[in-house]
Amino acid sequence: MRTKAYCSFILLIFFQFLCCRQSTAQEFSSLVKQFISVKADTFALTHVNIVDGTGNVPRTDQTLVIINGRIIMLGNSADVNIPANAIIKDCSGKTLIPGMIMMHEHLFYGERVAPQYLGIEMPFSFPRLYLAGGVTTMRTTGSVEPQTDINIRDQVNEGKTPGPDMDVTGPYIERAGIPIPEILFIKNTEEAAKEVKYWIDMGCTSFKVYMDITRADLAEVVRLAHKKNIKVTGHLCSVTYREAADLGIDNLEHGFWVSSDFEKNKKEDQCNNPAQSISINAMDEKSAEIKELMAYLIKKNVTITSTLPVFEPYTGREVFPGGAEEAMNTVIREGIEKSYAGVVGKDSSGRAMFKKEMAWEKQFVEMGGRLMAGIDPTGAGRVIPGYADRHSLELLVEAGFSFSQAVKICSLNAAEYLGRDKEIGTIEIGKKADLVLINGDPLKDIKTVRNTEIVFKNGVGFDSKKLFESVKGKVGLY
Ligand SMILES: [Zn+2]
Repeated sequence: MRTKAYCSFILLIFFQFLCCRQSTAQEFSSLVKQFISVKADTFALTHVNIVDGTGNVPRTDQTLVIINGRIIMLGNSADVNIPANAIIKDCSGKTLIPGMIMMHEHLFYGERVAPQYLGIEMPFSFPRLYLAGGVTTMRTTGSVEPQTDINIRDQVNEGKTPGPDMDVTGPYIERAGIPIPEILFIKNTEEAAKEVKYWIDMGCTSFKVYMDITRADLAEVVRLAHKKNIKVTGHLCSVTYREAADLGIDNLEHGFWVSSDFEKNKKEDQCNNPAQSISINAMDEKSAEIKELMAYLIKKNVTITSTLPVFEPYTGREVFPGGAEEAMNTVIREGIEKSYAGVVGKDSSGRAMFKKEMAWEKQFVEMGGRLMAGIDPTGAGRVIPGYADRHSLELLVEAGFSFSQAVKICSLNAAEYLGRDKEIGTIEIGKKADLVLINGDPLKDIKTVRNTEIVFKNGVGFDSKKLFESVKGKVGLY
């Protein structure tokens, strides 16, 4: 009897051991495996410069040990005792930042086909591009095919397709107004409620309200989402930032660019795009009114998402910021190059507004506000996932943030917003090894952020170059 009990005890330990091993070691399909360049239970990255996501000063010559996907040791290279079984990668001359957590992303690409604007789903190219560019977690921030987004999220989680972790936002919650035929327009608040309940049940984990909703719609969306611990963001126009803050919105998109708070004779619950645009363009950079609005949003705990790439001016800038032309389908690329050429030198108001928006975002952070970042691959079609995500860091530095602050905006701030900062968002002992290895020193030359070499997700290293290569010429198609 004693022997039998002892045997089952041993068996139990053995099964527990198997169980634990299964939960940490993810299986990948052969498709995904071709992009993996580092996969080991125990490995060390040595002599690397670290910008850890906290906003603190960067540290030089550091060594990390990663075991089963987690950061287990981290310190000065001279002090870390690397386990004997570890695979060692010498990272001299390289920089490590946390995996980027980008908060205004889409799995569709916006294409203008007059008189409409189409949201074309890119389930093949976009997830790869995000991961290639250093994004390990993203929010879709408005969906035109939520079922596709959910399926892609699940395929990524199951190791069947390469891509980042995804917070899938439900369909845009919007009333008729905007000429995007992919949007599911609601006619009344009851339909907004129906939509939210349905897509929560189907697996969406956040919501976004759009430009023509009413305050009643927003109140109901917030009420239903918050009941399930789900957050709500908005690209607003009909509802002002202040009204939305009062109604409990968690997050506002596009910085201060789309605030209708300063519109003269604003009609309640109605969007007047030209009037909104005139009012924000007329606002002085240093005005007391914008400062008061910032203070109000901070008091109400509203997070702002910076989307500088989608607002980037034309004159003196790349056609496809971040060098994304190689990813473009030729027909789509030629159309965008043509329209770009037509605007160069004629966008002085856009350039002035862009500068002002940068200053406001900086001021918001200095006042204590939480800023996150995203690229929004819509607009004029120049903003391409991956390329533009890395470029976000360049633009935030151009806005006056230090590189460490820019990294924090693209990592820890978003992790905190998502309530996942115990797991991701910084390079810290105990956290998941979501990391981006950059070949170079962005502190000396910010353009080196484009040299992403390996993107680690959950301790598995993906070859950035291979991922980019695999979708060349595909953006705009699928
Ligand atoms: Zn968007």
